[in-house]
Amino acid sequence: MKKIDAHAHVGYFGSWCDVGLTAREMVDAMKAYDIEKSIISYPDVNVTLAALTEYPDRFAGLPWMDPNREGAAADFAALADRHKLSGLKLHPLFNAYTANDPVVFPLIEEARKRNLPVFIHSGHPPFSLPWSIGQLAEEFPDVRIVMVHMGHGHGIYIQAAIDVAAKHDNIWLENSGMPMHTKIREAYNRVGGGRLFWGSDAPFHHYAVEILRTEVSGLSESQLEDVFYNNIRKFMGW
Ligand SMILES: [Zn+2]
Repeated sequence: MKKIDAHAHVGYFGSWCDVGLTAREMVDAMKAYDIEKSIISYPDVNVTLAALTEYPDRFAGLPWMDPNREGAAADFAALADRHKLSGLKLHPLFNAYTANDPVVFPLIEEARKRNLPVFIHSGHPPFSLPWSIGQLAEEFPDVRIVMVHMGHGHGIYIQAAIDVAAKHDNIWLENSGMPMHTKIREAYNRVGGGRLFWGSDAPFHHYAVEILRTEVSGLSESQLEDVFYNNIRKFMGW
């Protein structure tokens, strides 16, 4: 079944992570797993831009912005106007802020002006909890927000991700790294079939594992096609 990867990273992550894929390695893996395109981000935007230049048909890119950095909104605006970028990436855990902190708002405003979606990491206390993302969604009802990892590895946060998305129709869920296959079908049914995307979070997780979890979630073939391919394509306007 053909796929689009809604969440992946080209580049090397050091420190405790010690994982990485070059653009070339990712494209080879994508071919092996029938993945047409991947939406990528990396803390250094130049890594993302280089991958986009090398494989413009295989990658869509999100600049990973740190709202705590002086001038982040202006930098994002300049990047978005100069390059073909597909949204904004925020990682509240990595950069230490909550999604609904006013420090984030100038970046969201710039995304809103350009009708670009905002992809936000979720699943770790205290910064990346689904409820904070819900509060941001409430503050900006006309901005499309993707809750990356839909609560990640913690059952209570996974449940909250589904609850929060069910309440806010400007939240979409992405399921990489989320261990409970049962919650994929539950999210499809409760949040709405169109608001759930498959992602790998490569290189943090193996494609085979991430694909299998969605395949065994209990969704029908046509529902799987939505999650693996149709939904993100429609969402991104591709
Ligand atoms: Zn990630």
